[in-house]
Amino acid sequence: MFNIPQMRLDRAFELHQEEYESAALRVLRSGWYIFGNEIEAFEGEFAAYIGSKHCIGVGNGLDALCMSVRALGIGKGDEVIVPANTFIASVMSITMNGNDATPVFVEPDEYHNIDPNKIESAITPRTKAILPVHLYGQTCDMSAIMSIADRYDLRVIEDCAQSHGAKHNGRTSGTFGDVGCFSFYPSKNLGAFGDAGAVVTDSDDIADKLRIYRNYGSEKRYHNMVVGVNSRLGEMQSALLRVRLKYLDQNTQMRRDICEYYQNNITNPLILLPKIRKDCECVWHQFVVMINDRSLFIDYLKEHGIGTIIHYPIPPHLQDCYRNLGYKQGDFPIAEQYADHVLSLPVYSGMTAQEQEYIVEVINKWQR
Ligand SMILES: *Cc1c(COP(=O)(O)O)cnc(C)c1O
Repeated sequence: MFNIPQMRLDRAFELHQEEYESAALRVLRSGWYIFGNEIEAFEGEFAAYIGSKHCIGVGNGLDALCMSVRALGIGKGDEVIVPANTFIASVMSITMNGNDATPVFVEPDEYHNIDPNKIESAITPRTKAILPVHLYGQTCDMSAIMSIADRYDLRVIEDCAQSHGAKHNGRTSGTFGDVGCFSFYPSKNLGAFGDAGAVVTDSDDIADKLRIYRNYGSEKRYHNMVVGVNSRLGEMQSALLRVRLKYLDQNTQMRRDICEYYQNNITNPLILLPKIRKDCECVWHQFVVMINDRSLFIDYLKEHGIGTIIHYPIPPHLQDCYRNLGYKQGDFPIAEQYADHVLSLPVYSGMTAQEQEYIVEVINKWQR
């Protein structure tokens, strides 16, 4: 029997251990830890990788989203359209930190991304922006979303926390909207060794604002133009992320190979496999199946040494923190049904062929 967690980070580290260690030592020995050569280099390299004019490194993915909402001038009384099935950060960026705008939820489609056919009916005179989330590494239908945004003059904030390098019709996620917001939380496809995030944009104006917000609202030291936050990307994380970025495509390929193997070899009719849009190059942040009797299946896998995680068990509209919005069970039945049935199988760089074969074998033997 194997012991296979849903996710592990040590294997990807070990693949290029010496490079990470020498990058870390370089920073330690430099005597310079905030706003130096490493963040400047990383911002340039990541902007080039995504194909955006600017990259602004920040403290984490939530801050990337929060500051973007603010930079687009969205505030109290404004509405932002967001998928009903997403990680809570996408929604909190709309409501928190003085943004105080209102999230308007839209149901997902069969690909688990915001259903573009349901966006228009959610638009009101107060709608200022759409915040699509490229969930599990699969891009949303950005062609449809951008055409709605153009027609109604809405801003678009892409949540790319799970889609580093994913493409829609050959174009990289994060380059469609006004901004693309990234998290480099350790378990993301491009993960730092601690918290980190970034925003990419082609707009000089938005980039200037974000550079000011992230550092106490100042451009020039001790001159504070607006009330900002402290959300900086340090030299250590920047240096380590530069190594990670070098191997991002290689890591994505490993994820693709694992998920392709699952797609082709999980044949158990009780398991509904993920569907991927034909216009999408998925980066497989998660491999998410749907199943009835989920808790029995989780226990069965656990007994066989296989870890799983639910992304996500409670949709945002049913979270305690949003009770004030007045939603109830049944308001977004598709999102709720996904929350009750989704399950993420193990996917990580460096998973061995034997581990993959074992997982598939155990899953194919599952019966009720
Ligand atoms: C991880 C994640 C975030 C937030 O990133 P943090 O770096 O943890 O703040 C936002 N949106 C989505 C969809 C995520 O998966």
